[in-house]
Amino acid sequence: MRAEVPVTTVSAAAYTIPTDLPEADGTAQWDSTTLVVVHVEGGGRRGFGYSYTHACAANLIDTKLAPLLIGQEAMDPPAAWRSMQRAVRNLGRGGIAGTAISAVDVALWDLKGQLLERSLADLLGCYREQVPIYGSGGFTSYTERELTQQLADWVEDTGCRWVKMKIGTQPGQDPARVAAARAAIGDSAGLFVDANGAYSLRQALQLGTRFAAEQQVSWFEEPVSSDDLHGLAQIRARAPEGMDIAAGEYGYTPQYFQRMLEAAAVDVLQADATRCGGVTGFLQAAALCEGHQVQLSAHCAPSLHCTLGCAAPRFRHIEWFHDHVRIEQMLLDGAPTPQRGVLSPDRARPGLGLTLRASDAARYAVKPQG
Ligand SMILES: [Mg+2]
Repeated sequence: MRAEVPVTTVSAAAYTIPTDLPEADGTAQWDSTTLVVVHVEGGGRRGFGYSYTHACAANLIDTKLAPLLIGQEAMDPPAAWRSMQRAVRNLGRGGIAGTAISAVDVALWDLKGQLLERSLADLLGCYREQVPIYGSGGFTSYTERELTQQLADWVEDTGCRWVKMKIGTQPGQDPARVAAARAAIGDSAGLFVDANGAYSLRQALQLGTRFAAEQQVSWFEEPVSSDDLHGLAQIRARAPEGMDIAAGEYGYTPQYFQRMLEAAAVDVLQADATRCGGVTGFLQAAALCEGHQVQLSAHCAPSLHCTLGCAAPRFRHIEWFHDHVRIEQMLLDGAPTPQRGVLSPDRARPGLGLTLRASDAARYAVKPQG
């Protein structure tokens, strides 16, 4: 069928931004973060999307996805999503291809909003007007002073009701670090921990019980590897009252989330629209959560999830992740600012309401590999 509003261009670029301090969690360490951005054009308008991934995703978009999408209907992002999923069958839908598809899907939805001159929040419809955030960082590479200062600032200055810290690099030191975090934020804020899969099952059971009893930790994320659904389910079944088990940030497909939910592995499913298929994939994850009666929490990329969180039925909160907050405030016009710990989409701006400040981003540009 001939497109009424054909996509005319699709282009991607990558930017690598150094972190402000070295960062680490229980199973990884890094000193920079790469943002891949996509612009799509059609009907005289331009849409913007992004993912946090490797720079090679930009190449995959330019060489594999762009030729496929040129001439396709700009007003029908799910049709484009379907054709992109088919196109990467032999590459694998997860990983780099998943992030590339996600960034393009977001750009297509943004373009549709631009063409209709309506915000994405209006386009999708909203279950709520605003979504709460929780402060997230507390890297294991931080000194105790850096850790406690960051968490306390989120509670006191940003108005976060909950904050999350990383654990698992040196499990023997975690009880002391978690105690220092609790002392810094006081008794009224919620304290979350994320082991990024670093603990063994036994460690997770022992330390999780201790964190809940001694420091009122109410969220234990990836206590063991999120590939270990049986282990997660065992921990969830034995978790103390008031402690939620969460995972899902490495989900690229609805089938991944479905398996995690079927295994009763989590109390709260995490999904990341910059990995799991953009707006289209995130709404699929949200529908699975509704079906399983499990809450959904957004992983990172807060400027994007601000709108999507309003459009998801069982939505709990957005991860206000230090790295991404910093990058989005540096490089994206329209990046939302929390008001007393909540974000609201700006419905006066069409689409996602975000644009790349290209002149500010230029110094971080990754040169294409020749
Ligand atoms: Mg995590």
